[in-house]
Amino acid sequence: MKLPKDQILEIFKETHALLEGHFLLTSGRHSPQYFQCAKVLQYPKYLHLLAGDIAKHFEYAEVELVISPAIGGIVVGTEVGRLLGVRTIFSEREQTEMKLRRGFEISKGERVLIVEDVVTTGGSVDEVIQLVRKAEATLVGVGCIVDRSNGSASFDAKFYSAMEMEVLTYQPETCPLCAQGTPAVKPGSRNNS
Ligand code: ZN
Repeated sequence: MKLPKDQILEIFKETHALLEGHFLLTSGRHSPQYFQCAKVLQYPKYLHLLAGDIAKHFEYAEVELVISPAIGGIVVGTEVGRLLGVRTIFSEREQTEMKLRRGFEISKGERVLIVEDVVTTGGSVDEVIQLVRKAEATLVGVGCIVDRSNGSASFDAKFYSAMEMEVLTYQPETCPLCAQGTPAVKPGSRNNS
């Protein structure tokens, strides 16, 4: 059974992973929320709970390998791999190209699950999919903790997220928070990221 959205939101707030306020995002847009998944995953019980939700979804998918894009996906990927009892690796960016390094390999025909913490555009996952395809392995699915794509992320595989979280952003000119006169702050500028 899927974890209730309310319960997950409560955990995000309790761990200060989900902040509410008036934030200036790296895109230049403003948002009433800021989410930093790593803040949740620093607690083993929550890592276990959320990774467990993903692992449970794919427990009968005969996964043989878990792979995550560095850095965000590594912690959750490792826990999902541990729960499924399978080999677990990660890919990383060298300059701009997503690669397998450290002697990591994907075998031909291997049944692969991609695990990510947060999917926003799905770009990193798409690059990992290319690595799986290039190795002629079988992509079993993609699992993540939070889908923030507002429904736009789709992959050529079964896609599962523990939770979908809508992202509200505004252009500075039309930002209602600016209209209220509060200044937009960069996340982390007050010891919170
Ligand atoms: Zn604003």
